[in-house]
Amino acid sequence: MNICVVGTGYVGLVTGACLADFGMNVLCVDKDEAKIAALEKGRIPIYEPGLEEIVAKNQRAGRLRFTTDLKSGIQSALAIFIAVGTPPLPDGAPDLTFVRQVAKAIADHMNGYKVVVTKSTVPTGTGRMIEQMLRSNDGDRDFSVVSNPEFLREGSAIADFLRPDRIVIGASDARAIEVMKEVYGPLFLAETPFVITDVASAELIKYASNGFLAVKISFINEIARLCELMGADVHDVSRGMGLDRRIGSRFLLAGPGFGGSCFPKDTAAAVDLARQYGYRFRIIESAISVNAETKARMIEKISAAAGPLAGRSVAVLGLSFKPETDDIRESPALAVISDLVAAGASVCAFDPAAMENARAIFPDLSYATDAYDCATGADVLVLATEWNEFRALDFGRLGKLMRSKTVVDLRNVYEPRELRAAGWSYTGIGRA
Ligand code: NAD
Repeated sequence: MNICVVGTGYVGLVTGACLADFGMNVLCVDKDEAKIAALEKGRIPIYEPGLEEIVAKNQRAGRLRFTTDLKSGIQSALAIFIAVGTPPLPDGAPDLTFVRQVAKAIADHMNGYKVVVTKSTVPTGTGRMIEQMLRSNDGDRDFSVVSNPEFLREGSAIADFLRPDRIVIGASDARAIEVMKEVYGPLFLAETPFVITDVASAELIKYASNGFLAVKISFINEIARLCELMGADVHDVSRGMGLDRRIGSRFLLAGPGFGGSCFPKDTAAAVDLARQYGYRFRIIESAISVNAETKARMIEKISAAAGPLAGRSVAVLGLSFKPETDDIRESPALAVISDLVAAGASVCAFDPAAMENARAIFPDLSYATDAYDCATGADVLVLATEWNEFRALDFGRLGKLMRSKTVVDLRNVYEPRELRAAGWSYTGIGRA
């Protein structure tokens, strides 16, 4: 089957490469000429483990191609996946400009039956809007609009796409469902659960899922706060809660607040969506405000550990919003750095993959070559993102390089007792 994937970012590129790996003929389209030129030469514009290999393998096999020519993508494909960005507007609603642009192009160029699939995270009602746009040029056109939200996580995107917990397909006709089952044939055969529903429910599943996960994170961050006030340990509380299978241990780790390109945007969009229907989504509103407080509180923890920050030297390990990605969108690490700079601290940062992206936002920061280079001469070490290479730091060596043996572990990677026994001043999140 010929497939066109429009938007070759974190989601579109992974989708295109993985669908090609399923045996589909995939043409990936992006309006960013530099990105397409790089991809045609086998250069991957983002850091995502395993992506380079799967792209190269399918390019070699002739199943994966790249172009800026949307018209030819539309005309050559039976199924068109829309995977463009839906960034937040100031009021929290997602900006659907790119989705509309693609829908307009499909309306202008479609030649025969098409299955138009939204992979982008879009509010309930977007499928209906796309349908109206496609029908506006010619009321008798033959097409189906499908919602197929994506749940991959950056950093493990390939594995998540190839072995998902479920595939959600929102469609209103059997023909489109058959096409989608063929697209996801290998997963269907591997007995991955398929949730087949109407378009509006599928669109809402994505916001409901991300909203729920955001609530879980804010919940444990509030428990962490209580632990600090009460002298309890959130690590133990989380473990004690998470072993209850009704609760589960994932997304129950206290930290500096959620970030990334999805949770902040999707929670704001869920609140906005509910508002449009006259409803206040109070639980997600609370998760958002707890998250803002959590992020803002990190600078207080650092200054409580290190003293007044003006003129102090701070080493920050980790810039991406989570490990194994170069994505810094809404990264808590960047919020911490902004606050440190505003407090007059001089900051040196290191990240295994995200420094190039961070330089565009903080051109004047010092960037180190590794964790030890970063810590040299620092008054305090802040662990902001839990990359694996920061999980086994040599604190003996760090102690000799730093001016003060002070560490603020925003990811609770280390055992407070062990570091304190080694003479460090240790501050974690919610740890007595
Ligand atoms: P991204 O910004 O990395 O990529 C979007 C791409 O779309 C860019 O390369 C851009 O040039 C391209 N584009 C925009 N308008 C276009 C047009 N008219 N024609 C062709 N190309 C166009 O975004 P992303 O992180 O891949 O997210 C895409 C969507 O998937 C969003 O709705 C997001 O919420 C959703 N999503 C993202 C993730 C994630 O982890 N990043 C996970 C699940 C869902």
